[in-house]
Amino acid sequence: MSELIYEQFDLTPCNSFGIKLYAAGFASVHDLNELHAALAYASRHGLPVQILGSGSNVLFTADYPGLVVQMNFQGIEHLNEQGLVRAGAGQNWHEFVIYCLKNKLYGLENLALIPGTVGAAPIQNIGAYGVELEQFVVLVEVFDTHSGAVTQMSRSECEFSYRDSVFKTSNTPTLLVLSVTLQLHTVPAPNCSYKALQEALGADSVSATPQQIFDTVCQIRRSKLPDPALLGNAGSFFKNPIVSRSKYANLLKEHPAIPCYETEDSQFVKIPAAWLLEQLGWKGRRRGQAGVHAQHALVLVNLGQARGDEIMLLAQEMSSSVLSHFGIALETEVRII
Ligand SMILES: Cc1cc2nc3c(=O)[nH]c(=O)nc-3n(C[C@H](O)[C@H](O)[C@H](O)COP(=O)(O)OP(=O)(O)OC[C@H]3O[C@@H](n4cnc5c(N)ncnc54)[C@H](O)[C@@H]3O)c2cc1C
Repeated sequence: MSELIYEQFDLTPCNSFGIKLYAAGFASVHDLNELHAALAYASRHGLPVQILGSGSNVLFTADYPGLVVQMNFQGIEHLNEQGLVRAGAGQNWHEFVIYCLKNKLYGLENLALIPGTVGAAPIQNIGAYGVELEQFVVLVEVFDTHSGAVTQMSRSECEFSYRDSVFKTSNTPTLLVLSVTLQLHTVPAPNCSYKALQEALGADSVSATPQQIFDTVCQIRRSKLPDPALLGNAGSFFKNPIVSRSKYANLLKEHPAIPCYETEDSQFVKIPAAWLLEQLGWKGRRRGQAGVHAQHALVLVNLGQARGDEIMLLAQEMSSSVLSHFGIALETEVRII
């Protein structure tokens, strides 16, 4: 067991906030045998289990008293000539996007440079620049910790919605993603519907190639988002709230400039959380070593030696201010552990 389980494991490199804390145990599992062994170890020692990919969407608020199991199943299989491709949960997401592009499998370009693993991508149905993962999902292969069975879930069984899925119901998931099978396009099908992408592409947006979209998305992201390797963060901390159209109409009376986006359900609109936070002056504020990025009110950052609970307190202060000023309850996108 000694090769699989590490005790008192330093999680600093396993969370993109770069917060220094420890897990009582840590195992990086590459196949089902290792997964079984890790879960059996946790059960023998009465330890809770926390599943992890690369830690770019989590905030540990304290040392973790159980076993962190990092899903590290590797491998990419091009399943047929019609664009069906499967990737192991531990595969790096951005490298997978590059693999697809190189192999003339199109559609994921807009999701370039999202940190994390393939296995975590369905958990919150990752999305960016007008595209969401769910558009491509055919099957998600899972290990069910209740039944001990490996099963295949169809896209509808995954119950995807905005930054959400059936997998996100609790912090100790019972459905562990082993691999994801996607149906991609074999001929370019550029999606330049997202305004910021269209603007960056300029005149090229009408005839943009997948490679151009990939390059432009990478360029925009590099210029806008802080690199977690340099400034600890987990991307957007809060989801954009979805409110009923009637609530939005009431909000407009008091805040005539409040923006919104349409959602798939015409009864509801999405309000940019960043706008709400900006109005309340959150950009660039700090509480000790926890801060809000100077250019992004949605991105909380570790200014050096922040503790997880400090970042959590700052987030709570931010969401309380939005609730009392706008009557909107913000939900976190980041998983709090
Ligand atoms: C700079 C930056 C920019 C970002 N931009 C975006 C963006 O544009 N769009 C977007 O959607 N997200 C974005 N994110 C969030 C993050 O990249 C995604 O949520 C990503 O999918 C997390 O992958 P991970 O492997 O790091 O997951 P982790 O952070 O390790 O885990 C996240 C959650 O998934 C669970 N989990 C992980 N792997 C598995 C598995 N195999 N089976 C079951 N549960 C699992 C964990 O238990 C945890 O609850 C950004 C993050 C950063 C740091």
